[in-house]
Amino acid sequence: MGPNKKVEYMCSYCGTKQIKPATAGRPLPGSCRAKAKSKDGKMKPHSWVKNRVIG
Ligand SMILES: [Zn+2]
Repeated sequence: MGPNKKVEYMCSYCGTKQIKPATAGRPLPGSCRAKAKSKDGKMKPHSWVKNRVIG
């Protein structure tokens, strides 16, 4: 992959998309509104999947 490629990640639960440079790895976990909270009331992280490669 060239240095200018970007990867679009999508959360398979809520559909949130994030674009990152291909060399930067996966996005931060963040908080997914589509998932039920854990028993102690904490938000669960997004489930990032690689959606497409740009460039
Ligand atoms: Zn999500």
